[in-house]
Amino acid sequence: MSSIQKATDVILIGAGVMSATLGSLLKQLAPEWEIKVFEKLSSAGEESSNEWNNAGTGHAALCELNYTPEKADGSIDITKAIHVNEQFQLSRQFWSYLVKSDLIHNPQGFIRPLPHMSLVEGENEVTFLKKRYKALSAIPMFQGMKFSDDPEKLKEWMPLVMEGRTSTEPIAATKIDSGTDVNFGALTRMLFEHLEDQHVEIHYKHSVNDIKRESDGLWEVKVKNLTTGTVEFHKTKFVFIGGGGGSLPLLQKTGIPESKQIGGFPVSGLFLVCNNPEIVDRHHAKVYGKAKVGAPPMSVPHLDTRFIDNKKTLLFGPFAGFSPKFLKTGSNLDLIRSVKPDNIVTMLAAGMKELDLTKYLIEQVMLSNEKRMEELREFIPNAKSEDWGVVVAGQRVQVIKDTESSKGTLQFGTEVVHASDGSVAALLGASPGASTAVNVMLEVLEKCFPEKMFEWKDKIMEMIPSYGISLAANPELFHEIQESTAHVLGLNDKQQVHSM
Ligand SMILES: Cc1cc2nc3c(=O)[nH]c(=O)nc-3n(C[C@H](O)[C@H](O)[C@H](O)COP(=O)(O)OP(=O)(O)OC[C@H]3O[C@@H](n4cnc5c(N)ncnc54)[C@H](O)[C@@H]3O)c2cc1C
Repeated sequence: MSSIQKATDVILIGAGVMSATLGSLLKQLAPEWEIKVFEKLSSAGEESSNEWNNAGTGHAALCELNYTPEKADGSIDITKAIHVNEQFQLSRQFWSYLVKSDLIHNPQGFIRPLPHMSLVEGENEVTFLKKRYKALSAIPMFQGMKFSDDPEKLKEWMPLVMEGRTSTEPIAATKIDSGTDVNFGALTRMLFEHLEDQHVEIHYKHSVNDIKRESDGLWEVKVKNLTTGTVEFHKTKFVFIGGGGGSLPLLQKTGIPESKQIGGFPVSGLFLVCNNPEIVDRHHAKVYGKAKVGAPPMSVPHLDTRFIDNKKTLLFGPFAGFSPKFLKTGSNLDLIRSVKPDNIVTMLAAGMKELDLTKYLIEQVMLSNEKRMEELREFIPNAKSEDWGVVVAGQRVQVIKDTESSKGTLQFGTEVVHASDGSVAALLGASPGASTAVNVMLEVLEKCFPEKMFEWKDKIMEMIPSYGISLAANPELFHEIQESTAHVLGLNDKQQVHSM
């Protein structure tokens, strides 16, 4: 059986943090617009946005060393770090606006203050970290960062990591207290509850199987109700494809020229998890190391305190791996089905170029638990296997596309692909990810509704005062925003709750 439904203004595909953010922005900017959401799973935030499927780092470049590469002349390039930090500040401001406006409640349920640290070993790495520290601490967003190469100080900062360390190599770390742990699953669920209150129609257990443009310019979205088996056709003026790893196949179905010559390469992930309170209570930070040679940037090892299900937990990883699925709940045929006549050359070119990455991922898949424990012991020398279990993380589908200089290049960032008339947009890629959801969704608005941006500007500035403004160049504005968002989100020292 099939049915044809009346046209709506907006359809959001997928109930992850990206659709949640876009829907929440639109409800403030155009409250009269009708929005429908289709999600194939039974609730919101179950795929990559779920708290167990990602690392929950509020990515602000406070500890991630891959955002500050060393240049050929030995100096440190901090451009990307500033950019990522400014993007995270946009998220903080929008979340604060929603809390202040009583649209979402209990910010401690999704964001907690947590020191961010970077840890390195070896003379060259210590020199690199010191240079990075000097370059960053001159910028307002990184002020308050501390550097130490004194093992006694490091013991204070991270006792679990320093205990039992026998290496005589030089060691150093930086620490900054303005970092956060974000429960993106809880945030997504809160945002969807808010959207439901705002009369957004949310259809769970509804899978989008096709998207076609009609002769009247509207999009027809074919949806299967997975409970009843019926097929529905929904018309809309604008579609956002927020299917996470599932976005690429849906984008391909639109047939828009912008969807051509794009491929996806799925990278799976695993974390080690520790719930032993005696160990968990002895660590309170996110500690990021340096990626191994040949490893992709998203597999930088880190040891994180997490706040999940009202409990403190430790997570270590992620260990990357290969699975042909585009979603954790996807099919083993996802990768092969995404190969089309228009992207086969692009994908083959990437395959030839990325042999090292493929080799690395295969080696990671073959790791035994004991080998993973050995990697953990580089962080926690005294870690015991019986205290640590394994959790399977989400899938990250990296974008493969042609660049001006080369065919089939693997991209590690996120990418908004949109039709030239702005009637459809898809989000591909996964990094820096959920932390920058507000920035990416503002980009969707700019690309798809350019004629509305003038009308919306005042409201955007009310919600997100640093929209379009460089915080690095405006220290006063940064301090004002940092203080007010920390207060509203409960991130100040005095408001901190260290144990739960
Ligand atoms: C291992 C790992 C670690 C990460 N760590 C971090 C981190 O520390 N910090 C950070 O900021 N980001 C991190 N990320 C990235 C972050 O999790 C993602 O960028 C973000 O969750 C993506 O949100 P989304 O809404 O696009 O996708 P998702 O949360 O995956 O949501 C997409 C939704 O679409 C649904 N869907 C798909 N296809 C269809 C269809 N055809 N019909 C209906 N519904 C459909 C899916 O079921 C799913 O619910 C990490 C990701 C991984 C995998």
